[in-house]
Amino acid sequence: MKVLVTGGAGYIGSVVADELLQAGHQVVAFDNLSRGHRQAVPKNAELVVGDLADRAGLDQLLRSRAIDAVMHFAALIEAGESMKAPQEFFRNNTANALTLLEAMLAAGVKRFVFSSTAALFGNPERTPIEEDDRLQPTNAYGESKLLVERMLTWFHQIHGLGYASLRYFNAAGASRPDKGEAHQPETHLIPRILQVALGRTKHVNIFGTDYSTPDGTCVRDYIHVSDLAHAHLLALHALENSPKNSSPLIYNLGNGQGFSVRQVVEVARNVTGHPIPVIESPRRPGDPAVLIASSEKIRRDLGWQPRFGDLKSIVESAWQWHRAYPNGYPD
Ligand code: UDP
Repeated sequence: MKVLVTGGAGYIGSVVADELLQAGHQVVAFDNLSRGHRQAVPKNAELVVGDLADRAGLDQLLRSRAIDAVMHFAALIEAGESMKAPQEFFRNNTANALTLLEAMLAAGVKRFVFSSTAALFGNPERTPIEEDDRLQPTNAYGESKLLVERMLTWFHQIHGLGYASLRYFNAAGASRPDKGEAHQPETHLIPRILQVALGRTKHVNIFGTDYSTPDGTCVRDYIHVSDLAHAHLLALHALENSPKNSSPLIYNLGNGQGFSVRQVVEVARNVTGHPIPVIESPRRPGDPAVLIASSEKIRRDLGWQPRFGDLKSIVESAWQWHRAYPNGYPD
């Protein structure tokens, strides 16, 4: 298939692009390079630099490249930032997704894989979280993605769009020593911890130590980026092979195991041999206390199995990347 990967120069999109190529698909990576990196795009993919807000550009792209399916990663992702500038999240994540869906509709592209998030669930009613549990985001980032999921149900029902929505818990790790997480600014826990181990910052802040969790810090379910990427391939193939109008594929993706912020710091101390000083700081607005996935459904339906399920190997792979590329990609 010829797959358009929006955000193909980004952390997860670029790894999925690698996997698509390995599986024999053709990839057109679409990215405005506001956050992504040209060097992250696989050599065998075409990179088109453009913006999702540009409807005419999208129309032209979908038609001229005869795109069969779209995987949509391009988005703002920092939950904390979304509580300062929600408008940017609704513009970039929600409005731009609608523009993309409209362009797909006009071009007759009927397969869509959406990069969704555990942030849809807010403070969950139970753990581990199943797909049908209540959706009630506690931050604007989660809301901006939930609105897209809602639109997708209507595009499916009314226009027959076949789609998968993959709700990632905490994506982490590196697929190769020369390909990893390089956000600017970096807000995510594991890379921030590793920046301390590299000597680039003096300490890591622990945002909130008074949550009702065993050690008072937030608990998250970390999942290796290569395991996420593999799930995208399985979802795409399921869409390719499923009959018209079959039900949407909605899956939670995590390892089903939670680690507190303090536990992640401890694992990173073991992996890096650095003491990694911490400063206990106030809560970050919008953070749910505990987010742990049940991924039983995707295991059952698509046979997905994580290959790098333990936190130590996730942190080790991230550490290899950060040590080799302490400044991220050289652009
Ligand atoms: N966190 C932290 N210090 C940091 C960055 C993150 O204590 O420098 C916490 C954050 O409050 C959350 C967890 O680590 O509880 C994971 O945050 P991250 O931003 O990596 O992912 P999120 O869960 O927001 O998607």
